Amino acid sequence: MYIRSLRYFPKEPSTTPWGAPIVWEGTFDHEEENLFHQARETVVGLSVFAVGRYLDTYLKDFLVSASHYFMLGLPCIVYVLTDRPLDVPRIHSRPGMSITLIKVTKRPRWQDISMLRMMDLRDLVLPLAYDEVDYLFCMDVDQIFTSSYGPETLGALVAQLHSGYYLSPDLPYERSPLSEAFIPPHMGRFYYHGAVFGGKPSHLSNLTSSCLRSILKDKERGVEAIWHDESHLNKYLILDQLPSKVLSPEYCWDNRLWLRYHKMSWAAKDYKKTRV
Ligand code: UDP
Ligand code: MN
Repeated sequence: MYIRSLRYFPKEPSTTPWGAPIVWEGTFDHEEENLFHQARETVVGLSVFAVGRYLDTYLKDFLVSASHYFMLGLPCIVYVLTDRPLDVPRIHSRPGMSITLIKVTKRPRWQDISMLRMMDLRDLVLPLAYDEVDYLFCMDVDQIFTSSYGPETLGALVAQLHSGYYLSPDLPYERSPLSEAFIPPHMGRFYYHGAVFGGKPSHLSNLTSSCLRSILKDKERGVEAIWHDESHLNKYLILDQLPSKVLSPEYCWDNRLWLRYHKMSWAAKDYKKTRV
């Protein structure tokens, strides 16, 4: 089944081959989604890591934009994981949104800061999230919410289509069988973005444990997957557990591409300045 996107994409699939919805603006009713979740008193969590210089460069814009656009109408807890809690900017978040700071240790390599988020999510965020929220999103900090990002995105296991590879015939999965993130050549139809995933805490517990196990096995063997945690995430979502909902690239848009309507956009990347 195809839907006609209201904005710029002429004709887009609205379901995956396994029947999961692909959420585009125009495929849902904002009001209905809000009423459904308000009636159930849904609480949403949002976790974000800001370690080292990523804190100074990106965190404020991420938090301010989340307060403006993320899950308006539902109570929301933002978990900020950082090595420098005292330097987290104080922002006036909207009523109903609270911020919890969690201190983490800064790992020496940026690759490990990124990959071992799976460990901190499992060990530090999920134990809180189980008690406090119904759904949790796990996001990169180098992005900005730009319009309503609402409960249409909630589901048991939610994955984000990578806007950079949405129309690409070549998907950059890990292709070396030496890595646990290996995806055989004939497999995989979508490339998912490691910057956004979400779901119910129980589903994320499986996801983070499984990805972490693979990452640590690779370390034992001295190999590192091509796109780090993102490669392991893709392997999990393709070979272990298919997502129950998929977000269109509108939900995590590459700011260098031409589409102007989006719900969240990448911030400018400056690895020389931000990475350790
Ligand atoms: N990160 C961080 N400090 C670092 C490196 C990474 O806090 O020194 C976190 C941050 O949330 C960042 C995420 O890990 O958004 C993933 O890294 P990055 O955004 O650089 O990866 P990319 O989007 O370029 O693949
Ligand atoms: Mn990023």
